[in-house]
Order: sequence, then C-alpha cells, then structure tokens
Amino acid sequence: MTLQIAAGMVPLLVRAKMAAGVAHAVPWGISLDGLLASEIRGNTKAAARMAGTDYEPYSPDTVPEDLDLPLARCPGDGAEGWHWAATFAYPEDAVPGPHVQYWSARPDQQALDQMSAELPALVSERQGRYRSRVMPLPLTVCRHLVWRAVGDPAAVAELLAPIVSIGKKRSAGHGHVLSWEITEQPDADPWEFAHLHPDGSLGRTAPTACLNAADDVRTGGEGQMGLRPPYMHPACRAQVMLPAT
Ligand SMILES: [Zn+2]
Repeated sequence: MTLQIAAGMVPLLVRAKMAAGVAHAVPWGISLDGLLASEIRGNTKAAARMAGTDYEPYSPDTVPEDLDLPLARCPGDGAEGWHWAATFAYPEDAVPGPHVQYWSARPDQQALDQMSAELPALVSERQGRYRSRVMPLPLTVCRHLVWRAVGDPAAVAELLAPIVSIGKKRSAGHGHVLSWEITEQPDADPWEFAHLHPDGSLGRTAPTACLNAADDVRTGGEGQMGLRPPYMHPACRAQVMLPAT
C-alpha cells in the first residue's frame, strides 16, 4: 500500500523527554495521532468558548468526524480501514518492569450527605456503586518515549509544544513531559515510519492488508480495536492487527 503523502510531509521521529515515565491502561503506548487529534479538539473547544458558540462533544450515537491531522495517510484496506501514518509510543531506555502502582478511592461521606436529601444510615464501602476501590496503575518507567510518523514537521511540533503531560493520572504527576524533539528523517522508509517501532515490530493498530507485503513483522495478534482517533469510540473500532507488546 502506498501512503498518501502531502507536500512538505517527511518521515519524522518524535521524541518526548520524560520526567519519570508514563502511566497507561492498555499494554501498548499512547498514539501520536490520538495526541494530535485531542490537541486539535482542545483548541476548537477553547475557540468555541471564546466565541460563545456551541461545541459538539463526542457522542456514542454518532460517527465522529475525522479531523485533518498534519500526517500522511495509509489507505490500509483501501476502504474504511485507513489510518494515519504514525505509531504508538515506544519507550527508550525503559527500566524493566512490571511497575504497578495502586491508587485507592473511597466516597466522601460528608460530600454525599451534602448532595443528597435522603442518605441511608450507612453507605456501604464494601459493595454497590459507592464502594471503595483499589485500582492498579501500570507504569512504564523510561527516559524517553519515541514515535515514528510521516507528517508536516512544523505543524506536528506546533501541536505538541503545549502538551506538558500525557497518559493516565496526569494530575497526580504521571506522564510529565520535559521537552519535545521532532527530527526529520528524509532518508527513512515512509511505510516503515507509518507502521513499525524502531525494533521492527508492529507499532500501531493496522488492518491485515497493511502487512501483506511485509515479511515477518512481530504483532500482538488480531483483535477489535480503534484504527483512528478517537480510539475509544465504538464507531472507530475495527478488526485489526494489534501492536506488539
Ligand atoms: Zn497501514
């Protein structure tokens, strides 16, 4: 499959210098196209707020519109199964894990009391909707995260520059980004930069058609997952090859 590369787009290596690493909920890293899309959404939201106009949030009932990201496109299966030319995050110099932190939460009885007119004598901490929880938080501890992509270096850099933290539990200090570095790789193979991690394994979700011409790419097997941002939206899920873990 030949990528659709607009003028000014080149293979890129994006590197985030991390304070301590990143927390995530899934075994693979954060998608670069997802990061860029959420920045564009955030900017649109801010502009709507400034202008006093309405902003349409994502809804599970409607198919989200594809945003125009400064990235090349891979036609994928040649129909609905196309994707942006960018990988998920790949940790560099990672400290071998697993590293798991746990966080706990319990309902604030006083706050519940203030919110409700009729509170039962006891809101159980052991069962039901308001039970207290202990949740695992998997961490990747590393100095750098790298993404490969084919795109417009200036536009990608401009969108990434304001992002100071990524991943889960950012308000608790996780995923703090110290700096972004975008390097052009004009001699690199665009197909490789659209699909593979630096170690040659599959670096993103992709339709099987993407891998037909490639030999022996290590993947995470087949499964149902998002192919384009917003990755978690039900309408974006498809039968895909999963990234290697
Ligand atoms: Zn592809």
